[in-house]
Amino acid sequence: MKAVKYHGVHNLELVEIDKPAPGPGEVLVKVAYCGICGTDVHAYHMPGIFDWELIPGHESVGIVEAVGEGVDCVSVGDRVAVGPPGDCGSCYSCNTGHPNTCCNAFPNTLGIGPGTQGAYAEYVLSRFPQNELFHIPEGMALEQAVLFDVIGVGFHAVRRSKLRVGDDVVVTGCGSIGLSVIQTARMAGAKNIIAFELLESKRALALKAGADYALDPSEPKDVEKAKELLAHTKGAQVSFEAAGHPDSVRTCIDMTMANGQVMLVGSDGRPYELVTAALGPMEYDLKFSFTYTKKEIHMLFDLITQGKFSTELYTVKKVPLEEAEKRIIQLSKGELDVARVLLVPGEEP
Ligand SMILES: [Zn+2]
Ligand SMILES: [Zn+2]
Repeated sequence: MKAVKYHGVHNLELVEIDKPAPGPGEVLVKVAYCGICGTDVHAYHMPGIFDWELIPGHESVGIVEAVGEGVDCVSVGDRVAVGPPGDCGSCYSCNTGHPNTCCNAFPNTLGIGPGTQGAYAEYVLSRFPQNELFHIPEGMALEQAVLFDVIGVGFHAVRRSKLRVGDDVVVTGCGSIGLSVIQTARMAGAKNIIAFELLESKRALALKAGADYALDPSEPKDVEKAKELLAHTKGAQVSFEAAGHPDSVRTCIDMTMANGQVMLVGSDGRPYELVTAALGPMEYDLKFSFTYTKKEIHMLFDLITQGKFSTELYTVKKVPLEEAEKRIIQLSKGELDVARVLLVPGEEP
């Protein structure tokens, strides 16, 4: 079968490998779509993310092709999502309700862990199907389900925050994560949602997602406008940083009230400066948020099926598996204005 192998920075190769055969307890899935995640794009350019050979692809959907002996969680022909964050099920984080911070997550995640075979391939083998496969509800398209990684991060961040009904919310960065934060904050009962985003096209999406205001952080009059809106409390009760850029972190903190919460969701390799003498007197509650849990994927699938969470905001572009490297390069240059590029390894189901 066809697969794309990662050998190291700037080194992806289209290879022909044996189609895996499921052993006892394992499941083989025929990949319909696999998203190119930002993690894959970063790993293509930066050392230190994948320091090993592997076949990437940790967010895919497909049809169960074959099941090994003793598997009873799925059957041949089932539509499933594959590859949410791996976890070991036995460490302290896993046993205290935080599987997304499992200390053994990396080696256990398909398409991320050393030597794993992810879904940049025609078929993907799940060794822990109970943990890695999610039934896609009837009435939900595969193209919607494959967005679980795109939308899960923002959903988790709002659930992890102290946002309460009636609170004002600021979101800086309106990419896929920011849009998901906005939709979730709307559902959670936020009063005003003030979104900051440099690109006009994304500001339009922020309004569609449910933001009350979409402002340009580089425009002093827009920054003034946000301050006026938040004048009563001198900032939002909860702010979400969803771009990862140091400037966006600064805007986010500036827009938060004393004793308010700053949720740091965006991910970026650059350091940013926190001056304790300036921030300390505000007693900000800084909190990080990382990925999402399996339970949250089930919740999102239900919300999407019920029409309460929209996937229409997230545009996708389908391309053949062979174009993986070309598309990763385009994504890193910002040349593809879509929420997800989906690799299609075979015929579309
Ligand atoms: Zn991802
Ligand atoms: Zn664990």
